[in-house]
Amino acid sequence: MKIKDIGGEFALIDRLSRIAAVGHPDLVQGIGDDAAVIRTAPSPAPYLLVTTDILVEDRHFKRQWARPEQIGMKSVECNVSDIAAMGGKPTWMFISLVLSDEADLSWSENLYEGIAHACRRHHVFLAGGDTTRGEKIVINISLLGEVAEDRLCLRSQARVGDRLMVTGTLGASAAALSLLQARIQPSQYLLDKHLTPSCRLSEAQIIAPLAHAMIDISDGLGSEVYHLCQCSGVSARLEGSTIPLHADVTAAASLLGVAALDFALSGGEDFELLFSIAPEKIDALKKTGVPFNDVGEIIAGPGTPGINTADGRCIILPGGYDHFT
Ligand code: ADP
Ligand code: MG
Repeated sequence: MKIKDIGGEFALIDRLSRIAAVGHPDLVQGIGDDAAVIRTAPSPAPYLLVTTDILVEDRHFKRQWARPEQIGMKSVECNVSDIAAMGGKPTWMFISLVLSDEADLSWSENLYEGIAHACRRHHVFLAGGDTTRGEKIVINISLLGEVAEDRLCLRSQARVGDRLMVTGTLGASAAALSLLQARIQPSQYLLDKHLTPSCRLSEAQIIAPLAHAMIDISDGLGSEVYHLCQCSGVSARLEGSTIPLHADVTAAASLLGVAALDFALSGGEDFELLFSIAPEKIDALKKTGVPFNDVGEIIAGPGTPGINTADGRCIILPGGYDHFT
């Protein structure tokens, strides 16, 4: 049987984790969130956070489109983004590298220049890794972090009546990728969002004490809303017209003859944050000065999350990117 026949990436992770994952009293959150949460000392010591991500050449990056420094920066940002989404701070990093014959000395050194740049930005320290040769370049980063118990934001903490908020605008990275695939030069703004995204670590630190659930937007807003709802046992209703899109995303969509909202809902690699917050906390959030947009609400489940469209209909929320479907 093919992986797509069982429902794709997340169904696969579910099946595999059932085989090997066992619970432990110190495993506060195992498989199923942006990072694992581990108790290493009695309260009030912070929890240990652990996340890992793989970037594969020609699937996650192309050497003809991205410079090694850019690939290095992005590979750190996508991990820091997962630690940020837990409300945490990143600390120690490990890199496992598969290098092909084409990745010569200067390419790998430049990759590490980009990695070092992003590490300095987020006060992350490289502490080890592994290196081998293969057919394609693979960059696997594991990142540790820590979070105080009262700042931890799990995917499972959304409550009925919460507002759903996102930081920044969505869809720029996906719009850039679609343009590149169509051999159209993206604007500098779109290209930067695609090749050198920066995650919302400082914003997450401010949002975490006020929010209920939080997740980073790496596979499209649709997919992340599904995750929040599934983990929290709730449903959601989004308001399509309030989903923030940059003018360049709208322009790219009309150039390509597609719906701009699809870049936000089903695109990927925005590395913005989606969080749920009680309405009475919104004033406090506004006072922090962190920019955010209200895109919908958490409603009682079960039931499939929906989205109100511009013409007044409510449709089933489209899901996000899946590596296997
Ligand atoms: P994200 O997109 O935020 O990085 P993923 O969708 O990759 O998160 O992963 C969701 C959850 O599944 C995480 O808890 C992750 O650790 C876990 N996971 C993903 N792949 C595997 C795997 N092959 N084995 C065990 N756990 C996995
Ligand atoms: Mg994530």
